[in-house]
Amino acid sequence: LTCRELQNLIDSYLDGELDLMRNLEIEQHVQDCPHCNRLYQNHRALKTAFRNEALYFAPPLDLQKRVQTALRQANQPVRAVKSFSPRWVLAAAVLTLLIIGSSLALALNRTDTSAEALLTQEVIASHVRSLMVDHLMDVVSTDQHTVKPWFNSKLDFAPPVVNLADQGFPLVGGRLDYLDNRTVAALIYQKDKHFINVFIWPATNENNSNPKIITSQGYNLRYWSKSGMVWWTVSDVNNDELNQFVKLLQAQT
Ligand SMILES: [Zn+2]
Repeated sequence: LTCRELQNLIDSYLDGELDLMRNLEIEQHVQDCPHCNRLYQNHRALKTAFRNEALYFAPPLDLQKRVQTALRQANQPVRAVKSFSPRWVLAAAVLTLLIIGSSLALALNRTDTSAEALLTQEVIASHVRSLMVDHLMDVVSTDQHTVKPWFNSKLDFAPPVVNLADQGFPLVGGRLDYLDNRTVAALIYQKDKHFINVFIWPATNENNSNPKIITSQGYNLRYWSKSGMVWWTVSDVNNDELNQFVKLLQAQT
């Protein structure tokens, strides 16, 4: 991958539009090339800034009233000018409001969806990287009483750590990872020869949510909120096994 190619791809990368191999090439290049690393940091910062909710605003409360007043005023001379019937002016105004309303809704909705899509790409990339470059675990232990204090010394939050060995999903270790612009806890569980990565970080609100199901690039993912934490899990185990795993995990956390 050349620097020029990277520059052309960087926005698509941050929008989560590229395939897995392209993503990995870009991550590798950004690690090796200080110039592109700076470019990447800049674009990433810009994207984060645009995701800020403060940039979105609700239409002012008196907008409707102002439109109605403007319509009434417009109607006065309109009666004299036959070519503009008040009904058409009203219809045009309603149409304009509808277009404004639906594009606002679309913009807000798209922000949500692209944040999820971006995080999905990040989670899959972390999972694949953890299996590829021999960086699956920082702390290798099947004992949650070893893994938990290890995290507590490295993070500013305490991720719940449970072992599900008795239920067929032994805990094999933990590591630190970086997702959604922050350091997160990654727990690794095993199912036969497959690994399941579980990423945990503090939620911004206390609302619990049911697991959302995502399948992407051959991986199964679930994410939910519980106990003040955001949980993302990813694996190549099948859907039934992942559902079972998530149910067991949720029962104990
Ligand atoms: Zn470069």
